[in-house]
Amino acid sequence: MYPTRAYLFAHPAKHSLSPTMHNTALEHLGIAAQYEAKDVAPQDLQANLEALRTSGAWGVNLSIPHKETVLEFLDSITPEARAIGAVNTIVVKHNKLKGLNTDAPGFMQSLREAGLTEFADLEVVILGAGGAARGIVYALQQAEARVQIHNRTWKRAEVLATDFDAQALTDSDLRQAIKNCDLLVNTTSVGLENPNETPTIFLPKQGWVCDIVYKPLETKLLRDARATGLHSIDGLGMLVHQGALALEHWIGQPAPIEIMRSAAMKKLGY
Ligand code: NAP
Repeated sequence: MYPTRAYLFAHPAKHSLSPTMHNTALEHLGIAAQYEAKDVAPQDLQANLEALRTSGAWGVNLSIPHKETVLEFLDSITPEARAIGAVNTIVVKHNKLKGLNTDAPGFMQSLREAGLTEFADLEVVILGAGGAARGIVYALQQAEARVQIHNRTWKRAEVLATDFDAQALTDSDLRQAIKNCDLLVNTTSVGLENPNETPTIFLPKQGWVCDIVYKPLETKLLRDARATGLHSIDGLGMLVHQGALALEHWIGQPAPIEIMRSAAMKKLGY
């Protein structure tokens, strides 16, 4: 058994695709190390992070429910992760813990590889205002897109919009905003594990629809979008690119993106 050099801390942790993606990548690169998912309850996060400092590990990925609460336990945080308010990757160096966010650039990379490359003045409607939405709104704003946010719970959309100088949409504004937008992004968990559920029945007149849910890969929202001739982008690209960027920070060399994508797809049953 190779020594564990990178972890996922999540609660629960057992359904994650990250160990499959990372271990396949490490094996492909001939690196004698392994990545392990560890179920870490919120009250145990700090102790697990402290143990990392001298463990010889390269770092850790964080998932629900640790991405925001981890900030106070780190020695440094990149400006991007600080602005987003969430860390999904930690790099351990000289016994210090540095927090990064690879979800946001991973999301943008998934759009670019699908062919969406121009963001200045792009009209975007984001559905959802949870943890994932924060990084996505930040990244799109940085790329000078114009972002509007709708969420089931209005207050949360309002807070997110205020934090990032975006616009919150009311229920009655949603239909028109989606119709006129260039890119619709679902960041809610609606559609997760349910191929018949969609976060909205409205679609843009033209342009792009992205769903960051990747289980199933083709959600009802994406099926509806394809049926009307819109470009669609699934959530696998974001998952793969956030993982690849984390791995590159740890090992200092390019990650085998297509190997990681195939491993994740196989695990998903495709
Ligand atoms: P989160 O912080 O728990 O936020 C969940 C969001 O979904 C909230 O906006 C919530 O609205 C909304 N929501 C949940 N159930 C709903 C319903 N029945 N109707 C309408 N809205 C509903 O979760 P998260 O971390 O942002 O993750 C959201 C989704 O993105 C998950 O499915 C996750 O798997 C996926 N994700 C994918 C990637 C990737 O790499 N592709 C990365 C991160 C997350 P309220 O505020 O009203 O509760």
